[in-house]
Amino acid sequence: MSYNQPINDHSLLACQHCDLLQRIPELEPGASARCPRCNKELWRRRVDSLNRTFALTVAAVVLYIIANSVPMLGLTIVGRDAQTTVIGGALHLWNNDQKVVGVLVLFTAVIAPALQIGLMLAILLGAMRPRPPQWVATLLRYHPTTKIWSMIEVMMVGVLVALVKIADYATVVPGLALFVLWVLVFILAGMSSSFDSRDVWDRIQWADEAHRDGAGEALVEGTS
Ligand SMILES: [Zn+2]
Repeated sequence: MSYNQPINDHSLLACQHCDLLQRIPELEPGASARCPRCNKELWRRRVDSLNRTFALTVAAVVLYIIANSVPMLGLTIVGRDAQTTVIGGALHLWNNDQKVVGVLVLFTAVIAPALQIGLMLAILLGAMRPRPPQWVATLLRYHPTTKIWSMIEVMMVGVLVALVKIADYATVVPGLALFVLWVLVFILAGMSSSFDSRDVWDRIQWADEAHRDGAGEALVEGTS
């Protein structure tokens, strides 16, 4: 049985664009390294990445809870009032024979954002420990998937289009959740841009140091 042998050299990096293998220098916070062949940005060292991302994530948790517990929209039509939350809207779709759309709304606007925020919080709390545990690596691998499926901004555009269309027939009262969700869209974007996954990968101890040193020595023996 043979295994991949990781090279114990953190400065080595392959360009994702043109595959050029290169050593990147130590970067000042805020500075970035570009590929000399295709000019793609390889890595930008974020300023105080962990703490800033943590602050934004805590803000996202609070906003997410508010956004899902207060009404998003209120409608007044011929003297009747109706209010709905995001989850209520998805339920309404399910009950009105739009089951697929209902499930999609629930998944992309409620479940995926919750996973995106929750996983990020767990990754940061794990990475801040002196010796980050292995599960941080597992979460870090799945986090990009939750980000892809989190589509609050798409739902918001859909809601805006619907608002304009029904404005002629009913009085629409935007709920607090609508404003909170808009702020959350920007907080999530800020979270993504301030997060430095390379920084976290560097903190994760892949295996115990003895094992890694052993692998490094075996590689040196093999090449000499
Ligand atoms: Zn390149």
